[in-house]
Amino acid sequence: MKAEIIAVGSELLLGQISNTNAAYISARLAEVGIDVYYHTVVGDNPNRLAEAIKHAQNRADLIIFSGGLGPTKDDLTKETIANILGVELESDYAALVSIEAYFKRTGRTMTENNKKQALVLAGSTVLTNHNGMAPGMAIEKDGIRYILLPGPPHELEPMFEKEAIPYLLGTSTKREVIVSRVLKFYGIGEAELEYRVQSILEKQSNPTVAPLASPDSVTLRLTAKAESHEAAQKLIAPVELEIRSVVGQFIYGTDEDTLSSKAVELLKSNGLTIAAAESLTAGQFMSELADEPGISSSFKGGVVVYDETAKKEQLTISDALLDAYGVVSSECAAALAQNVKRKFNSDIGVGLTGVAGPDPHDGKPVGTVWIGIAFPDDVKTFKLELSGSRNTNRKRAARFAFYYLIQEMKKRYPEN
Ligand code: ATP
Repeated sequence: MKAEIIAVGSELLLGQISNTNAAYISARLAEVGIDVYYHTVVGDNPNRLAEAIKHAQNRADLIIFSGGLGPTKDDLTKETIANILGVELESDYAALVSIEAYFKRTGRTMTENNKKQALVLAGSTVLTNHNGMAPGMAIEKDGIRYILLPGPPHELEPMFEKEAIPYLLGTSTKREVIVSRVLKFYGIGEAELEYRVQSILEKQSNPTVAPLASPDSVTLRLTAKAESHEAAQKLIAPVELEIRSVVGQFIYGTDEDTLSSKAVELLKSNGLTIAAAESLTAGQFMSELADEPGISSSFKGGVVVYDETAKKEQLTISDALLDAYGVVSSECAAALAQNVKRKFNSDIGVGLTGVAGPDPHDGKPVGTVWIGIAFPDDVKTFKLELSGSRNTNRKRAARFAFYYLIQEMKKRYPEN
């Protein structure tokens, strides 16, 4: 089955909203084994919508519409489809009753145009709207299936899940499942990653292996098609193993993991507590740590020690150390990590010091960062040479602290 998604709405073309409905529908269709070949976006204009539908009819056998089912004049999706398919619009009794009940419940007066929302394509399967008024529709004509969904995501998503997917699976002859596994990398650029796994990428067809870069991390998505979830996972497993054998040291997590969620997962599974001393990041690391639910059993606290006096007074960093090595140094990062660990009586201490920019500090260039991580028996430091703007450097420094923390925890507590 080849699917096309047509999102209707001038706000989409004006850039006022993003087409998240198409992304959602595509992701869900992939999971049930339906290939999406095109995403089309069209404004609230019946002629251009009609044109888009005609194109889609030539290249898809499933066309899914989002938006334009509302009561106002510019909501024209079903009228346009009715014209093209040569079917009437008729009032759906159940939809009308539910719209009337909605108005009664909310104490509002129902206007004539609200009745328009109960109009459905004659002969269609009506898809119940669990979160709003406009019903959805599914209809098959000349071998092509059309599914009409409302625009608001909180209406579209439950309707798609509870009504459209069962409709599709119930009428689909060939069942295929698509399973994706996402490997998440940090500390390696997209180009280098691709270079290192090139031979694996080239020989793959099922699963396919697709790299994707975002400002914060690089991912590889392994996608397999098979008859069942288990069979797809069996196709993915050896390829994942091969990738791990080449670039496994840069993988911090999988699927929904983020650097902070993975770090917190490891802290919790190993029963470890943590504290942090932050200079250039000024609390960014701790703030991301605290974004994770259930962190209170692992996170003891920390200090922002931005200037030298604060470092000396709050964490007893000595004049001798600062005179000998400077504030942006491996020694200072190590001392921050060890002293904050002691101050908060935690198992792990993290120290961050560096030059965010725009000016160099103490003869150290912008982007020089030292991260210290103190464990119960030792301390390790890591040097970064970042090249971003001030705030990018601060953000990356915090992210790298999570990355090294994860790698060091994995080394020290390998059973988890
Ligand atoms: P309503 O009854 O609310 O008018 P509708 O089916 O007519 O529903 P639209 O008027 O096209 O839908 O869109 C309503 C709202 O839904 C938009 O203002 C926007 O917030 C959201 N929306 C519409 N299309 C999309 C889309 N493709 N992706 C994400 N959100 C969307």
